[in-house]
Amino acid sequence: MQNDLALLMDLQELDDQLGELERSRIYLPEMIQKLENELSELESNIEENDKLLLESAREQKSIELEIETDKEQLESYQKQMKIIKTNKEYDALTTEIDTKKLAISDKEEKILALMATMDECKEKSGQLKEQLKEIKAGNTQQLEMLKDQSLSLQAKIDDRMAKRIRLAKDINRQIIGTYERVRKGKGGLVVVPIRKKACGGCFKQIPPQRIQEIRRGDKIFSCDNCGRILIWIDENNN
Ligand SMILES: [Zn+2]
Repeated sequence: MQNDLALLMDLQELDDQLGELERSRIYLPEMIQKLENELSELESNIEENDKLLLESAREQKSIELEIETDKEQLESYQKQMKIIKTNKEYDALTTEIDTKKLAISDKEEKILALMATMDECKEKSGQLKEQLKEIKAGNTQQLEMLKDQSLSLQAKIDDRMAKRIRLAKDINRQIIGTYERVRKGKGGLVVVPIRKKACGGCFKQIPPQRIQEIRRGDKIFSCDNCGRILIWIDENNN
């Protein structure tokens, strides 16, 4: 019986490892996805920011060229002013000049706004690139580790499963039956130590007589309350 109990503990340890590995099967891809998303989101923010900077610079160039043309035209209007002959011509030209001046001042305001946008972009670009560097430094290593774990996961599961099959062959069928039934019903630990004269699973007190029997270890006892298999470990009860 002692031997069966020891083997059962080993089986339980393997089942715990298998449970953990199965959880990793879900958890690892989620973690990998999360870290990759973090990187790609930041990269696309940087891309958008760089694009806005480039577009603003282009627009500034083109408005500056327009202003140059406007100013040349304005100059030629002002030259025409000197050789004007009629009031009608004078009025028309004055209107043209005013309109042109207004257009130039509008465009200069646009340039100021674009310059402010570009300053913001440059500042943001520095911050984002610094952030990317930091996240890359942290995530790259973590990603590699998670991907390694993910790759070796199936091999680990196969290994534990093979060990489990070998181990189960050496344990009394009836005991395995009890173990499987409780594990399925309760989940988690099936073989639990007695602690403070109580079941380590559900904490129900165990009669002293029963404790003595369990300590002798020549028969396997289950907890009356939860059905878990009880074992005696000296260090838990000193
Ligand atoms: Zn119990």
